[in-house]
Amino acid sequence: MTRSEELFKKAVTLMPGGVNSPVRAFGSVGSTPRFIEQADGVYMTDVDGNKYLDFIGSWGPMILGHNHPAIKEAVIKACEKGLSFGAATEKEVEMAELMTDVIPSLEMVRMVNSGTEAVMSAIRAARGYTRRDKIVKFTGCYHGHSDALLVKAGSGVMTAGIPDSAGVPAGCTQDTLSAIYNDLASVEALFAEYPKEIAAVIVEPVAANMGVVPPKKGFLEGLRKFCSEHGSVLIFDEVITGFRLGLQGAQGYFGIDADLVTYGKIIGAGMPVGAYGGKREIMEMVSPVGAVYQAGTLSGNPVAMAAGIAQLTILKNNPQIYEELNQKSDTFFETMKENVRKSGHAWQVNHVGSIGSLFFTEQQVVDYASAKTSDTAEYARYFKYMLDNGIHLAPAQFEAMFVSAAHTEENLAYALQKAENFLMCK
Ligand code: PMP
Repeated sequence: MTRSEELFKKAVTLMPGGVNSPVRAFGSVGSTPRFIEQADGVYMTDVDGNKYLDFIGSWGPMILGHNHPAIKEAVIKACEKGLSFGAATEKEVEMAELMTDVIPSLEMVRMVNSGTEAVMSAIRAARGYTRRDKIVKFTGCYHGHSDALLVKAGSGVMTAGIPDSAGVPAGCTQDTLSAIYNDLASVEALFAEYPKEIAAVIVEPVAANMGVVPPKKGFLEGLRKFCSEHGSVLIFDEVITGFRLGLQGAQGYFGIDADLVTYGKIIGAGMPVGAYGGKREIMEMVSPVGAVYQAGTLSGNPVAMAAGIAQLTILKNNPQIYEELNQKSDTFFETMKENVRKSGHAWQVNHVGSIGSLFFTEQQVVDYASAKTSDTAEYARYFKYMLDNGIHLAPAQFEAMFVSAAHTEENLAYALQKAENFLMCK
């Protein structure tokens, strides 16, 4: 038995499924997790000494690669001064200034501790601001695990095939309306049915929790238009796309400003951080200025802020990072597409910037229904083949593959070669 297997055997007796977040259990790929001991650059090493070329990047935060020296140094320095004060700090001001400086639509920001919290709080602010209750979300998009949003959610919930979660009272989701991703008519129909009742439309500007599904041309523009016309708040959930597609995230990439935006992952560089922000008049609804209550003992934690500031500063001061990352990712995913074609299959590769997915379906994947046509058993075989060849992909079909700035041409060529070998045997 390997050390990972030993640990997993013990872990399942101590934690539900042996993990602290479901997708880590490897359930949907019929395997058991490798317990990671350390990570550097593009490699993760498990407790048995196996080394993996990593394409998860902690689900996004590691855009510069693991254990970046400048971030590590910033964290160590911050730790020397104390781990938490529960009081205002200069670092919080620095972080807020950094974010609002680079993102034009962000007039004010509030730090929280996770993407889930960011979304939950942004929705409360939108509801408080509009004095309306209903929200529109898109089937297959995931916005964290707060009650109101576990409605036909993507990510682990979708993989497990359970569109709703037990333990969520019907009352918590009765104001959550579901629309179809990339289908403006489905949104228009909801606005027609509930005029003046919709507080917000929340969307992943690039869906990344049903696998990667890019927005069709005009989709985000259409949402912007509907929200402006109906006095609803447009919320971009940029927990994945924020500071990944570029310094201005999806807003900059697609040239559309949302009213509120949620962040996580990259802005903490691996520390537990989230944030929401946007228009001043909406953010001024939030306590202690306004009547929308939201708080957090560890929010704006100085160590987390130090990590985030270090990462965002590197990204801000080196704009070529995004140029190079997006370019090499484009080449990577387009070559994968070509390899699929050469293998004689019509499987789909979707990608935007440095996130992408290979779907084992011949249907174009544009929404939840088409994503669900992917053969997940084939994905499991693909995942296993890649893992056996030292490549760590997302252990579920309905997740993204993350390329980082640290991946070299050689790393990417190696992964492409292995993927091609798999495809050619099929
Ligand atoms: N929104 C999106 C788009 C996400 O992808 C995620 C998590 N992957 C969340 C929200 C929730 O973030 P967290 O896991 O940090 O709570």
